[in-house]
Amino acid sequence: MRTPIVAGNWKMNKTPAEAADLARALLADLAGVGGVDRVLCPPFVALPAVAEVVKGSPLGVGAQNIYWKDAGAFTGEVSPVMLKGWCQYVIIGHSERRQYFGEKDETVNLKVKAALNHGLTPIICVGEVLAENEAGQTTAVVTRQTQGAYAGLSAADVLKTVVAYEPVWAIGTGRAATAEGANAVIGQIRAVLAGLYSPDVAAAIRIQYGGSVTAANAAELMAQPEIDGALVGGASLKPAEFVAIVRAAAK
Ligand code: PEP
Repeated sequence: MRTPIVAGNWKMNKTPAEAADLARALLADLAGVGGVDRVLCPPFVALPAVAEVVKGSPLGVGAQNIYWKDAGAFTGEVSPVMLKGWCQYVIIGHSERRQYFGEKDETVNLKVKAALNHGLTPIICVGEVLAENEAGQTTAVVTRQTQGAYAGLSAADVLKTVVAYEPVWAIGTGRAATAEGANAVIGQIRAVLAGLYSPDVAAAIRIQYGGSVTAANAAELMAQPEIDGALVGGASLKPAEFVAIVRAAAK
């Protein structure tokens, strides 16, 4: 049995004070909801404020990116060592990082290893762009990205990871994948992991769906057998929406 996990990616939104307010609202609204892990991913500078608000609660905290070195001359980057105490998760390889900041399968792999080395749970994003989808390349793309992200990882490490299948054409567009379509691709990602490791390992790994998840479509998506929760962008900034998505994912 996989516990579903819903993570809110706040992207480049919210000052530390605003982030603390949003975390407080979510903490209150989510009290008493069980059977689902939930994670708030504010911008780096808001991590301490959010961590302080959710301290001792079931709400987890995640960063949106890391660099793979511990320290050094890497202007503007943040290392996993610096995040210790502030968060337990980190989103890696989000399509916006791949699209705007040159993230590649190789750097995703380095970051996944760095996260695991420092006790952070990586939420590894994979997904095809629209042209790849229309060209029938979805399986090939997510297979390449999954194999790249997991290169050199032991089965023990793999069990500490989460995958987010995020078709890029569905992110921020209001056009979510169909529940059946998302379920099928996630099944394919699980098959790739089964090939890399074993069916048992693959069956234990949580794979989220992300891309225009809202309160309105969450129940149908979360009812699919392969989908273990959601990575939520826009709707995670609206407490009522995010709470409804978390509730829909709860087992
Ligand atoms: C995301 O950025 O990971 C995401 C899924 O965004 P949205 O929910 O807004 O489509």
